[in-house]
Amino acid sequence: EAFLGAIEAANPKINAYVAVTGDQARDMAKASDARLARGEGGALEGLPLGIKDLFATKGVHTQACSHILDGFKPEYESTVTANLWADGAVMLGKLNMDEFAMGSSNETSYYGNVVNPWRKAGSDQALVPGGSSGGSAAAVAASLCLGATATDTGGSIRQPAALTGTVGIKPTYGRCSRWGVVAFASSLDQAGPIAKTVRDCAILLKSMASVDPKDTTSVDLPVPDYEAALGKSVKGLRIGIPAEYRVEGMPAEIEALWQQGIAWLKDAGAEIVNISLPHTKYALPAYYIVAPAEASSNLARYDGVRYGLRVPGNDIIDMYENTRAAGFGAEVQRRILIGTYVLSAGYYDAYYLKAQKVRTLIKRDFDLAFEAGVDAILTPATPDAAFAPGEITDPVAMYLNDIFTVTVNMAGLPGLSVPAGLSASGLPLGLQLIGRPFDEETLFQVAEVIE
Ligand code: GLN
Repeated sequence: EAFLGAIEAANPKINAYVAVTGDQARDMAKASDARLARGEGGALEGLPLGIKDLFATKGVHTQACSHILDGFKPEYESTVTANLWADGAVMLGKLNMDEFAMGSSNETSYYGNVVNPWRKAGSDQALVPGGSSGGSAAAVAASLCLGATATDTGGSIRQPAALTGTVGIKPTYGRCSRWGVVAFASSLDQAGPIAKTVRDCAILLKSMASVDPKDTTSVDLPVPDYEAALGKSVKGLRIGIPAEYRVEGMPAEIEALWQQGIAWLKDAGAEIVNISLPHTKYALPAYYIVAPAEASSNLARYDGVRYGLRVPGNDIIDMYENTRAAGFGAEVQRRILIGTYVLSAGYYDAYYLKAQKVRTLIKRDFDLAFEAGVDAILTPATPDAAFAPGEITDPVAMYLNDIFTVTVNMAGLPGLSVPAGLSASGLPLGLQLIGRPFDEETLFQVAEVIE
């Protein structure tokens, strides 16, 4: 009731929730109380969570914040949310996001911008919460849930976490099932939690992660008890600092934050090693070929027949065109056009195939660093603090927000963003930790030192 009250009071300003499931939350909470009274119960018994609108929730609003999924209520539950409910968690509602998870500012949602609960010192100017999981990050930051599900295809968990002073982890590709998560770019998409603390993220990820035969890319490895990794000394761990993340034009305060993180880890006994990831500069251009290519294919299913919106036409082709023109926003249409272009017969080798080769080289850079004995890599999470809505209008300038995060998705590695300080203007800034495949534990362990 406290969280439902807080949502009612704050959501009109923050716009983090696109659907509030109050009755369902009360029923779930009662069932949870009953289990506890019987001396039963799971790890998340009674904990109220928000769910990104990308996760299929049975009988509940699931629209990827797109007009084209108008009225869509799935007949099935995503594996990740089913895992949370099986552990006793309570759903408060569905969270706002960039349309189909395409964006870095939450300005592309059909349901309007999410407003970051933070303001610059002495200013009333609204700011973006980052994206695409901006609703998840803002809801956690404003205490409108205890934790939230999110997804990360190129940074959508880590960037909004950094801009709202919350913690977010994108686990290794294959750790969480993608079954029932609306597809954006299937070879990059991963689910993960956003929460207030490293410990909360560890607890939530333990529940979200599972081996799932319904997702052929789900990896058959036991899910460790992430909480058990916390509080362990980082003495002797080798932390890599990649030279290539010192990008041109990076604000001095981001560099200072990075140095502060290095100093904290050194003080805690970690060994700092300089490393090189030479193909880093190709990650962003390669990502913006691979992600739109997969998106253009995945989004072909929205044809006005199977789901949501239908805008009638003179014949079936006319109906397809009318539906897709009205149903997809500008950014989604841009991605479909880019993706269709790079996959077309004449350009496939020059763009798509080339980008896939670059992807292999990016992955190899990380492999070499880890083979040389690096346990985790520390970088800034974002190139700057939160900005104002409407401030970045050029799509390519918007894509630059992902400069530190996309490499991790291209390589399939786990990445975590942890709040590390405030900008001169009083806004939260985050540092990113990148780990070996399926070694989320080390990220939690190191993040606690910075937190
Ligand atoms: N900002 C990136 C994009 O728009 C990443 C989005 C994401 O991780 N879902 O593609």
